[in-house]
Amino acid sequence: MLFDAHIHLTDDEYSNYIPQILNNLRALNIRACSVTVDIKTSLTSLDLFNNSRRDVVTQFIGIHPEFAGTEDTTKFIEIFSNNVDLIDGIGEIGLDPTYLRYKRATYDKQKEVFNFLLSIAERNNKPVSIHSRKSIADILETLKSYNTGSVLLHWFAGNKKQLSQSMDMGLYVGYGPALLYSDQLKMLLRNSRKDRILVETDGPVKYSRCFRGLTSLSSSFLVSVIKCAGDLLEMTYEETVSTIEKNSQSFLKRIQN
Ligand SMILES: [Zn+2]
Repeated sequence: MLFDAHIHLTDDEYSNYIPQILNNLRALNIRACSVTVDIKTSLTSLDLFNNSRRDVVTQFIGIHPEFAGTEDTTKFIEIFSNNVDLIDGIGEIGLDPTYLRYKRATYDKQKEVFNFLLSIAERNNKPVSIHSRKSIADILETLKSYNTGSVLLHWFAGNKKQLSQSMDMGLYVGYGPALLYSDQLKMLLRNSRKDRILVETDGPVKYSRCFRGLTSLSSSFLVSVIKCAGDLLEMTYEETVSTIEKNSQSFLKRIQN
């Protein structure tokens, strides 16, 4: 089974197609890790992905740094506590200074919310999916204070040194469709430990430089990402699939235990 390690199934872009998306995931034998960005999408997720959808959807809930200034963390912990058995992990959480220009949140507020969510993950032994755009150094520093188990740096786009620090810390790194056209990402993938690589679509993000900018049912893009990763690592498609499958299981291992 393939694993799309990061997708926003609760985004409005998908809201009219959820049954089709779930059928598509089943047909393609893909499990999707759905992440949320705020209280509203977290409630939508809990509503959509109750027990009956768990054959193909792994459910994370979180507060994205974009919304750190406006979301009520007390309400979040209440939702989390009431649904702890249905929630497989915490995400999407993180830091991102690019949102400070037009959102009210300060970077300190983002850090406060990020730390709060990491402590929930640590206390409850849940894996974490992290947004680290322009903030990898701060993220790596913050993570040193937590024993969170599995951590994914989704859409990893740091430099080679930050990659090697992440590998030393045992973090997972996510690669998506941009791998197909970015030489920088290709270099990073070649330098990643094979047992720490995950693949993702970050849907509904559109990739103008591949897949003709299409969005819907984007988990099917995974096959191309895996093929590209395999070529870069000089592995066959089958070897790549089985390596990434193993990585996905160990990333989620705290769920299965
Ligand atoms: Zn995302």
